[in-house]
Amino acid sequence: MNSARSLLASLLILTTASFTLAQSMPAAEPLLAGYSKQASAVERSWEKKFQDGIVADNLHASMQRLTARPHHVGSPYDKENADWILSQFQQWGFDAHIETFQVLFPTPKERVVELVEPTKFRAKLQEPALAIDPTSGQTAEQLPTYNAYSIDGDVTAPLVYVNYGNREDYEQLDRLGISVRGAIVIARYGQGWRGVKPKVAAEHGAVGCIIYSDPQDDGYVQGDEYPKGGWRPREGVQRGSVMDTDYPGDPLTPGVGATSDAKRLAIRDAKTITRIPVLPVSWGDALPLLSALQGPVVPEPWRGGLSVTYHVGPGPAKVHLKVSSNWDLKPVNDVIATLRGSEVPEEWVIRGNHYDAWVNGADDPISGMVTVLEEARMLGELHKQGWNPKRTIVYCAWDGEEPGLLGSTEWVETHLAELEKRAVAYINSDSNGRGYFNAGGTHDLEHFINDVAREIQDPEKRISVQERARLRRIARASNAEERNEIRKSHDLKINALGDGSDYTAFQDHAGISSLNIGYGGENDADAYHSIYDDFYWYTHFVDTDFSYGRALAQTGGTAILRLADAEVIPFEYKAQAETIGKYVQDLQKLLKEKQDESTERNLQLEEGVFTATADPRKTYVPPPVKPVPPFLNFAPLENGVVSLKRSAERYQAALAKWQAQATDLPSQTAGTLNTDLIEVQRTFLNERGLPERPWFKNQVYAPGAYSGYSARPIAAVREYMDQEKWNEAGDQVPMVGQVLENVARAIAKAADDLEKGVTEGH
Ligand SMILES: [Zn+2]
Repeated sequence: MNSARSLLASLLILTTASFTLAQSMPAAEPLLAGYSKQASAVERSWEKKFQDGIVADNLHASMQRLTARPHHVGSPYDKENADWILSQFQQWGFDAHIETFQVLFPTPKERVVELVEPTKFRAKLQEPALAIDPTSGQTAEQLPTYNAYSIDGDVTAPLVYVNYGNREDYEQLDRLGISVRGAIVIARYGQGWRGVKPKVAAEHGAVGCIIYSDPQDDGYVQGDEYPKGGWRPREGVQRGSVMDTDYPGDPLTPGVGATSDAKRLAIRDAKTITRIPVLPVSWGDALPLLSALQGPVVPEPWRGGLSVTYHVGPGPAKVHLKVSSNWDLKPVNDVIATLRGSEVPEEWVIRGNHYDAWVNGADDPISGMVTVLEEARMLGELHKQGWNPKRTIVYCAWDGEEPGLLGSTEWVETHLAELEKRAVAYINSDSNGRGYFNAGGTHDLEHFINDVAREIQDPEKRISVQERARLRRIARASNAEERNEIRKSHDLKINALGDGSDYTAFQDHAGISSLNIGYGGENDADAYHSIYDDFYWYTHFVDTDFSYGRALAQTGGTAILRLADAEVIPFEYKAQAETIGKYVQDLQKLLKEKQDESTERNLQLEEGVFTATADPRKTYVPPPVKPVPPFLNFAPLENGVVSLKRSAERYQAALAKWQAQATDLPSQTAGTLNTDLIEVQRTFLNERGLPERPWFKNQVYAPGAYSGYSARPIAAVREYMDQEKWNEAGDQVPMVGQVLENVARAIAKAADDLEKGVTEGH
């Protein structure tokens, strides 16, 4: 009791003492990672100036300018926007130019979707203008509703409903005894890359594909339809590319820049064009087709939000689908603007967003583009006030993202050798909305972007955007273990990126550390890729006062400033090593699950579970017997992770020791070290690429061939496991293990050089 009381007393004294101390000194801000003490203080004052200088009204004005008319690839207003963006960069003191590529970009010539049996109905395939929405009536310049890179075709066949049209959906169809061979499938939008739908349909023998927007996903089930609310109306259509995911960019020039004199494939040899014709429709156009289907009622999770009983078919509904396009080469115009570095101009920090849209594109992509422009304006302003970035800053406004990441991919392919030497990091944004901060990317930047987000204030809640995102994750965690995990870790985990936007070529092809950042989650609206995604809609239903646009400009610009000025590029390898370790565990878990699943299914087949429980009045085909997957040897991956962790720890310890000394690094050391750090990223590459998609060279970060958008880490192994090709999966393990060892060795070299420099500096 006594000792407890004295402990309490001394605690009180301590608290009082530190309280007085804290009052007498200005609150010491934590040292910025990669900065010495003095440099850190200077950097913070520039960052503060930068953040205070971001003006929401500028975002509003730029959006109005850029969305005034439709601006898809090759359109007059797309070019006008490029010229305007160029002049803005130049006016702010950047050295800017336009770099042009010639890409294959099909635009629709003929589009037909009609029901020919049992009744007749011709789909409108036209989004109506709304009197209240001033740009919705710019019909002459609007690109019609279509899916770019659908092959030309004219087919008439019975219709089958395939839910989202993923591979698992076709397994369900097998259980129902239904084949899509010779049929036209109708799939709803959602659950992954839209290009997967026609791809999987064709693999199952379908001859055509229709994709519609179900109101459950983005229409009246979610909220009021536009213009009463912000949700997709009856005739609203989602345009979009259906390019296959073998490689992004121009279908005719895989792996090389689509310059005017580039060697091109013949269109028929381009692997990324679909094998069957495909068109998107609104739910208004889909309803008569779905209503005409008979056959079994769909499994419960397949039901959408329309007031019909969803049937699978096939038929009696028979549909005529016709698509043909103008297969022309069109220019894409990337606007590239640089602010030259004062000390290490040969190192580049790169920021980008696309400016092309399907139609007026206020949300996608101008809401992101205007924040990137506002960042550049304010960086130019700081430059005039005497700030000079250490490294060169490159701001990119990409063209041709929507059809297939055309502008960014062709630019990276053209400048690959230079980028491999010079690129420090690439930070991307795309659409931006109201709500929570979100970042994805390579995990060497996880701690860095958390640090940045800790300093940006949420405009609605007056706490940092990092804290708000953290609390939301706690609220949404599915169990106590997840909540614990979030509470005990200092940083928010970031997700790996696949191929959803312009970071793809940087990360997956060139091995450049990348981030994708933005805000969202409170958008009570969705007009994605329709004529209604415009200025009126965005300013009534999304980030109406541009306060989250301002937050994004503050976040992105601070990140760029900090990367450009750091003495040591602020990568953190511990979190990355841990995350890669988790990816390896995920592979092991997946194998175990697949083994258990097969064992159980085979047992149930033997017991007669499937035949005994099938309703004799319905068709039910039991699943086939499958061999149980063999054990695989993951040891090379596990060893690679151990090496990675060891190197990462050594590097972080050396870095902490330097930062504790509060002195500048000898410039020779800093130079060598930063070159080491740039090299670490490239060691994730294997020049041969993924076994079936050689364009994708990054062996840790890659999208799935059947997921698109989202990442399938360690894809060389993972993809074969998904396809149940166990031997092939096992064969890839040593290669990826070797890549992890290479990364570990590169980090160890950085640790060596840093340790040496710190000792010398003493
Ligand atoms: Zn976009």
